[in-house]
Amino acid sequence: MDLFGRFLDIQKLVPILEKEFLPLLGASSSHSGIDIPAPEGTKFIAVADGEITFTQFLGAGGYTITLSFDNYKVTYCHCSPNYIVKVGDIVKQGQVIGYVGPQYVYGVKGNQYTDSSGKPTNGATTGTHLHLGIRINNMYQNPLDFF
Ligand SMILES: [Zn+2]
Repeated sequence: MDLFGRFLDIQKLVPILEKEFLPLLGASSSHSGIDIPAPEGTKFIAVADGEITFTQFLGAGGYTITLSFDNYKVTYCHCSPNYIVKVGDIVKQGQVIGYVGPQYVYGVKGNQYTDSSGKPTNGATTGTHLHLGIRINNMYQNPLDFF
């Protein structure tokens, strides 16, 4: 599939990017996505036109949003629980679809993640950040290949 022009420049994904951003990306792109450090409340956008297909707390991902189109699934993890999109919403590339969430979340049934002091965290996270994962036919890709 020709992806050229399909995804936004990653520099636009989170509008707070500093010079240190790209090295951080490279350093953390070995798991099932990339981690973009950002303060709580930082807005993030749809990387492509698509449909919102998931907005729930998802284990290690914490509060999660999934954007789907064709055979792609783009997952945004460690989001704010104050969702501004819902399942079934059709969104446009560049549209703000959520906010980076808090490090700690309380009262989430089944959340097994805590920090070393036992405070419940927003999934497996040690600080506020956006985790971005991209799957094609449910196989995880390196997101950096798309930007
Ligand atoms: Zn991550």
